[in-house]
Amino acid sequence: MTGATSSSASPQHGLTDRLARWAKGLSGKPEEEENEPEQRPRAGTASSREVTRRRQLYDEIGSFLFAHDLDLTPINFSVALDYLTGANIGVEKAIKAVLMERGKITNGWMETVAAEQRADEVTPESLANMLDKVEENLTQFTGLMHESRNSAKDYGAALQEQAKGLIEGSENDPVLARLVGLTRSMVEKTRQVENQLRENQKQTKALKSSLETARRAAEHDHLTGLPNRRAFEGVLREEVKVAREQGEMLSVAFCDIDHFKNINDTHGHDTGDRVLKFIAGLLTKASNDRCHVARHGGEEFVMLFRGKTAAEACEAVDSVREDLATRSLVNRTNGERMERVSFSAGVANVLAFDDPSRALKAADRALYLAKEHGRNRVYLAAETD
Ligand code: GH3
Ligand code: MG
Ligand code: MG
Repeated sequence: MTGATSSSASPQHGLTDRLARWAKGLSGKPEEEENEPEQRPRAGTASSREVTRRRQLYDEIGSFLFAHDLDLTPINFSVALDYLTGANIGVEKAIKAVLMERGKITNGWMETVAAEQRADEVTPESLANMLDKVEENLTQFTGLMHESRNSAKDYGAALQEQAKGLIEGSENDPVLARLVGLTRSMVEKTRQVENQLRENQKQTKALKSSLETARRAAEHDHLTGLPNRRAFEGVLREEVKVAREQGEMLSVAFCDIDHFKNINDTHGHDTGDRVLKFIAGLLTKASNDRCHVARHGGEEFVMLFRGKTAAEACEAVDSVREDLATRSLVNRTNGERMERVSFSAGVANVLAFDDPSRALKAADRALYLAKEHGRNRVYLAAETD
């Protein structure tokens, strides 16, 4: 381990928080008005650096919009923000491509990109909810179909039985003869319905198995093949229960690749994707049935260690960190050696908190400090909020 510290109250570094704070800045209220005079950030503190970063970002957005002669609309602000923070890879890729191609961006083009992104917003959560609904409907439908098929079968058999009785007296009675004709055609129709229902039952079975595949896909990240955040949250709930029942330790680590945006900017997204896969592979190698790894989002991974104290988990994560930091990766696109790739991490004891989400926050705060203190290091979180 390269360092250990207690993570006393420190600002969250999550992108959502940064964006929320940035958006507050946009509301037109100057930063100073939000703070009581005694709470104003002092020069050199973490919050004053944060304010400087936000101002920088604000300036960059302004420069971007003016450089391309774009209107000051919410859509243009939001697309520029996504591009400059790298918060939305789709936007980032689209803008880089259009700049390479035409060197110019228009208001209309910005609107199209924003609309495309909205259309693409199928999150694992929304997908999983959709799957739940489809599954529920499918189960109801299967039951209904089963009942209908059985009724059609019974109805068909009963009609056929009735038709037999009618045939005997029907030669001399035209009304009875018509009734026999009608009954026969009903028997035939009922048979067709039954066949159709049998066919539908087969298709429903196939649909159920596709649904299972879709559910597995909804819980995995397609780039690295690792479980995603949603799946991890399920594992965490389960592991907390088991660890409590069996009186075992449980520790969680947040790992975040250092300066990953630079890797994308220097080597391109495809190389960035390969780096992500490579690091996912290293973390997976360190995992087993008592250590789960997931992609928490973007360039962040999360690890859960059962049976390890937070200090032991710190050591385990640190050896992966060291392994990565001492490698010299090559950009496969051009054969050039890449600058050193590393990650920082924060580790917390899950059971020291009433709620696992608070342990995750503590690990995130420790990660923030690891970043602040120079990156490429693993920090242990304090056991209180
Ligand atoms: P820090 O050391 O502070 O963590 O800096 P950073 O550059 O790693 O962090 P930042 O949050 O500024 O940027 C993260 C970048 O990760 C932005 C985004 O373009 C990139 N990213 C997120 N997901 C993917 C992905 O699936 N593929 C690629 N290639 N890049 C991704
Ligand atoms: Mg990050
Ligand atoms: Mg990062």
